[in-house]
Amino acid sequence: MKKLRKLLQHLPIKWKLTLWSTFLIFLLFASYNVMQYVIINHWTVGYEKIQIERYIKEVDAYITNPQTDFSSQDSISMTTFLNSINEKHQLIRILDKNGHIMASASREIPDNLVQPKSASTKNYVTVNHWEDKFLVARVPVKSPSFSGTIEVIRSMDIFDEFIDTIFLIMLAAGVGGLILSFMGGNIIAKQLLSKIQVVTDTMHRIRQNGMTERVPVPKNRDELAELGILFNEVMDDMEQAFAQQKQFVEDASHELRTPLAIIHGHLSMLNRWGKNDPEVLEKSLQSSIKEVERLNTLVTELLELSRAEAEHFPTQAGDPSYVNEVIDCVSNNFRVLHPNISLQQQLFPKDVQIDIPANYLEQILIILLDNAIKYSRTEQPAVTVETLKEKEVVSIHLRDEGIGIPAEDLPFVLNRFYRVDKARTRKQGGNGLGLAIAKRLVLKYNGSISLESTEGKGTTVSLSFPVYKNEEEGT
Ligand code: ADP
Repeated sequence: MKKLRKLLQHLPIKWKLTLWSTFLIFLLFASYNVMQYVIINHWTVGYEKIQIERYIKEVDAYITNPQTDFSSQDSISMTTFLNSINEKHQLIRILDKNGHIMASASREIPDNLVQPKSASTKNYVTVNHWEDKFLVARVPVKSPSFSGTIEVIRSMDIFDEFIDTIFLIMLAAGVGGLILSFMGGNIIAKQLLSKIQVVTDTMHRIRQNGMTERVPVPKNRDELAELGILFNEVMDDMEQAFAQQKQFVEDASHELRTPLAIIHGHLSMLNRWGKNDPEVLEKSLQSSIKEVERLNTLVTELLELSRAEAEHFPTQAGDPSYVNEVIDCVSNNFRVLHPNISLQQQLFPKDVQIDIPANYLEQILIILLDNAIKYSRTEQPAVTVETLKEKEVVSIHLRDEGIGIPAEDLPFVLNRFYRVDKARTRKQGGNGLGLAIAKRLVLKYNGSISLESTEGKGTTVSLSFPVYKNEEEGT
């Protein structure tokens, strides 16, 4: 038994499905047949009983008839009466109170087949004799002149034959049903699994050929088609994520290569001859330190960007922040760090909370204010920070009067490593990562960011966030 169970457990799904469906269909079929057999059997016995009752009634009426002095009748007239009412395959007997046969009429049933037996209550029994089956009814009968038992023995042969034929038909149908259900189960299992096999084959191809392979999706929108669509969508996402990852690594190594090449150049030169010339030594060291600083900033920004892009970024960590409060705090810090900056604020009167932790909002504002200063046209950068609340949305606008961004570059400045001034000679020296980090952070907190700019006039960066809904207060 254990072995069989183990064997069944290790069967391939196709065979499991086939066997289960075969078993269930067969069970259904067999139980239907058994039920049919029982009902027919019950019905035929019932029918036979009704027939027997009719004869019992007639004999009973004959015996209990007050006009008949039963004792004066001889058994010949009784037998004549019984013969006159009897039918084929039936034996009727009248027994006296000692159980002796007084009269008997039989048609095609031997008299000695069933032993006579008197009865005190009405009863039915079935008697089997070799292949034959008989239904025997015994009823006590009493009249002033006679008391005894009426016995009716009826052959069930015809019904037996009928039931046997039905049984044979059912057996044949059962075997046929078993074969058909096995074949049907096999076809269903094959059809079902062939679609799953397509997914498995595609996975094998993906392993061999890479991420470009997709599952062919059938036109009908059944569950397996949905599985195929979902699988393809997951593959699309993964392919995109891999491509982005690859691009990121390529971009990052490209950015890292330039400062490293510069440092390498200076060190090689010093190694060959420059170290003996104090002027060259000083110049090279200064340049190298500058590049190391640039590398340092780049690595820090790369880490920040990768954290902002991380899938499990803690979007729920930290409390919501008060917009005006954070702007005030960052502005004050900037005024201390850059005393020549002219920073105007036009904030809404009643502070509002938005669902982004204060440290992330600060980080975004620092990036934007840094840019406003870096890309200013004068030594005294003028920046205005404005906050507006419209319905359930808070928007923050940062306006500067700097160099602006050319229209053709504007759509790309939010991409990582994108710089308008590609040459590294500029004194501002950004890595093109600030706006990319800001964008990732804003999007993570269900906000949006957009830029408007006119070259030579200035730039406005607009952020918007949904107002924080405090569940307890309902605001
Ligand atoms: P970076 O570190 O180079 O400043 P950012 O991602 O912050 O990188 O900005 C991308 C590019 O967009 C910058 O190189 C700059 O050319 C342009 N830019 C961003 N902000 C401003 C601004 N306020 N005024 C003018 N140009 C800007």
